[in-house]
Amino acid sequence: MNNKEGLYNRVSHQWQKFLRATGKMDTKERNTILRRIVENKSIGTFSPTEVLEWVAEEGFSTATVYNTLNLLVEARILHRLRQSVNSTKMMYEFAHGGTNHMQIICTRCGRVSNVRDSAIHHNIQSKLYQNFKLGHYSLYIYGVCEKCNKK
Ligand SMILES: [Zn+2]
Repeated sequence: MNNKEGLYNRVSHQWQKFLRATGKMDTKERNTILRRIVENKSIGTFSPTEVLEWVAEEGFSTATVYNTLNLLVEARILHRLRQSVNSTKMMYEFAHGGTNHMQIICTRCGRVSNVRDSAIHHNIQSKLYQNFKLGHYSLYIYGVCEKCNKK
């Protein structure tokens, strides 16, 4: 099973549970949107505009896409974050079900590798933020991989 299939199986299970628990409709539109997001961006952030492009040929309304993104956040499948501190533009990413993630991503070929760094892990775990209880973290480090660097 590749990473995307694994992620899709996990989040679609979580999604079905959420829809049942909240009495919301399990529609083809909502499931297609979730699948397209997994296929296109299982790692890293994406914008609602990108999601609209990924489902463009389906003819879903913009409202359906935004509505589904809101529900995916409510279901804790996605995180919503600001594009930058002063921006009003919102971005999304997978919440990864509470596991810590540290990944290096090549900005040229898109290659993603999981990495471990116990010094950084311990550093994050030891941080105290006022009125904030630490949960889990995702850390993405962008750069150029060895292969692309040689080209
Ligand atoms: Zn590369």
